[in-house]
Amino acid sequence: DYALYQAKRTTRGHSMLFSQSHVKAIQREKQIEQALRQADLEAEIAVYFQPIVDIGSDRTVAFEALARWTSPTLGSVPPGQFIPVAERIGLIGQLTRVLLRKALASAGAWPGEVGLSFNLSTHDISSSESAIALAGIIMASGIDPRRLDFEITETAMMYDFAQAKSAINMLKTMGCGIALDDFGTGYSSLSQLHALPLTKIKIDRSFVTELHKNPASLKIVKSLLALSSDMGLRCVTEGVETEEELAALRQLGGKLVQGYLFSRPISETDATEYLLQDGAAETAARIASGGA
Ligand code: C2E
Ligand code: MG
Ligand code: MG
Ligand code: MG
Repeated sequence: DYALYQAKRTTRGHSMLFSQSHVKAIQREKQIEQALRQADLEAEIAVYFQPIVDIGSDRTVAFEALARWTSPTLGSVPPGQFIPVAERIGLIGQLTRVLLRKALASAGAWPGEVGLSFNLSTHDISSSESAIALAGIIMASGIDPRRLDFEITETAMMYDFAQAKSAINMLKTMGCGIALDDFGTGYSSLSQLHALPLTKIKIDRSFVTELHKNPASLKIVKSLLALSSDMGLRCVTEGVETEEELAALRQLGGKLVQGYLFSRPISETDATEYLLQDGAAETAARIASGGA
């Protein structure tokens, strides 16, 4: 029993507090692993959607699909916890396919100009088989691939760079966009920007927190916006929570924004409702300004 071994080993060592939390974390991961192995993915996993807003027009231009798991035994488990486990136990391929099918089915009901941004993990781009499976799901959905963005992280790219590059090249050739997620948190960000067939970068939430009060963050976000614009890439800023952060970002020229200030990730039904209100607000604004 690894958890027990770990407990014994560390109680003889330095900190009892650390060892207890460490054991708890291992136990939790074991529980997640067990529940995930037994899970009926189709039934237990849902896709939620978080709006990506163009702050110039105040319209929702896309939704990011975010996985939500409600386990019958563990209750709701956040993706930050179960995605890495799924990845480790070899379930991620199946999970991604279930998620992508569901996300595309939802997106099929949205107006054609609303995009879908979908997260890929290391495994999804580490073999041509898995990339081909994704392509098959996109084609079967009937959705115009130009409405899709795939989000990848630098970490996922680094596992097998050549293979990852060829996988995302295939998706890009189909017409899908490729977004570098959590930009600014990895290592060789800048060199990779050139080596990858990207269409978009997503500035990590960590640079946005208290943006208006943080001179370092202001400089970083400003340069990232300039960099993406110079490279002809679109840029989404993630994690905007307050009006102050939004105002600072607007000042810096940010255009596409995602964050709790606009909406948390919401269910498929709520996303449809959100789009209706989005359209209604725009129509009302047009009428108020005397337009058609
Ligand atoms: P991510 O792709 O960077 O997604 C953004 C995360 O930030 C989401 O967390 C979202 O709910 C959260 N977020 C958005 N706006 C705000 C904000 O204003 N404030 C704060 N505090 N948080 C905000 P979530 O849904 O828990 O997902 C966490 C991570 O799990 C994702 O980070 C992504 O790496 C991974 N993930 C989620 N769904 C999937 C999926 O379907 N497939 C894969 N491979 N990974 C996924
Ligand atoms: Mg993402
Ligand atoms: Mg992100
Ligand atoms: Mg993240």
